[in-house]
Amino acid sequence: MLASYAAQDSTSRGRQHAEPSPLHRGEHQRDRDRIIHCAAFRRLEYKTQVFINHEGDLFRTRLTHSIEVAQIGRSIARALGLNEDLTEAISLAHDLGHTPFGHSGQDALNECMHDYDGFEHNLQSLRVVDVLEERYADFPGLNLTFETREGILKHCSPKKARELGELGKRFLEKQQPGLEAQLVNLADEIAYNNHDVDDGLRSGLLSVEQLQSVTLFAEQYAEVMRRYPQLAPRRAIHETVRRMINYVVTDLIENSRRLLETSGVKHIDDVRRHPAALIAASAAVREKSQELKRFLRKNLYAHEKVMHMMNQAVQVVRDLFQVFMRDPRLLPDQYRDKLPSHNEAAVARVIADYIAGMTDRYALREHARLLAPTPDSKAFLP
Ligand code: MG
Repeated sequence: MLASYAAQDSTSRGRQHAEPSPLHRGEHQRDRDRIIHCAAFRRLEYKTQVFINHEGDLFRTRLTHSIEVAQIGRSIARALGLNEDLTEAISLAHDLGHTPFGHSGQDALNECMHDYDGFEHNLQSLRVVDVLEERYADFPGLNLTFETREGILKHCSPKKARELGELGKRFLEKQQPGLEAQLVNLADEIAYNNHDVDDGLRSGLLSVEQLQSVTLFAEQYAEVMRRYPQLAPRRAIHETVRRMINYVVTDLIENSRRLLETSGVKHIDDVRRHPAALIAASAAVREKSQELKRFLRKNLYAHEKVMHMMNQAVQVVRDLFQVFMRDPRLLPDQYRDKLPSHNEAAVARVIADYIAGMTDRYALREHARLLAPTPDSKAFLP
């Protein structure tokens, strides 16, 4: 059923630790199942996407975001004859390495780790599935297939790429990842662009009037109002966002189909050697999506209220890092046992792993336990 250029069990580059093949599942299906059962996956429920977890029950969290990415990814994969299980596995794992408090949390932790090789959430996602999850007797991590790990690692510095060996090679040789990895990258973008419009409107931080300046929104909204002039405002927004997703997904499928046909690729290795990505939106839709992204960056992610909350979050992460660096014995047993004796950078890494693994609310609780109350604790109250 799969297209010849899709990732297949028969062309998989396998797992780091050899294992017998699963009896009644495919290899990538097993990856997906392992991801769903790991602790880092459950923690996504209480990690911020844009809005702090307890600001409201309806806002996206990293968990619901990841599920939306998987939904969009699977639709596209099925339409193009690609491997749905692999697409789902990469989607569900792509944000596992995120710190609490979204991008502000990651930036703060990266700053704290400045002298110790930094912190990057994408690399951390790989570290979670390769090392940090301890669930199997025979190997560390989840021992996922090469293709799933390839999809998780979206970008990488040359230095890190050299350290990562086989998996890092494509960044040095400027090769592409498999099609499923390419497609999840775009499904991620489609998911957050659209759900951030929805959450932004629900929160009142964005207005329909403001969004009229964004072509992607304005076109679909005008069509909805033309067809259903009496529609209640909230429902009109849902109908608009639904149409926006459908519009960009349809374009992505049709444009990628054309690219795949004309490229002549027949095998996943042809895809990897191809000079450019083969899953891509048309130039016109890419431009519209860029416009939406710029709008969200300016009006939502940099909104005064979001920034205020995020500044508090940055302080929480910094404080926690400093407290543990000053006295690593304050770490819970499970992390204390991993502390090396005379290597500051390795100690810092254990602390970064611990902080990165925290949910928003756990980080706040640890902060309250170890330090004075949060600078402006009201900012975090539901
Ligand atoms: Mg994401």
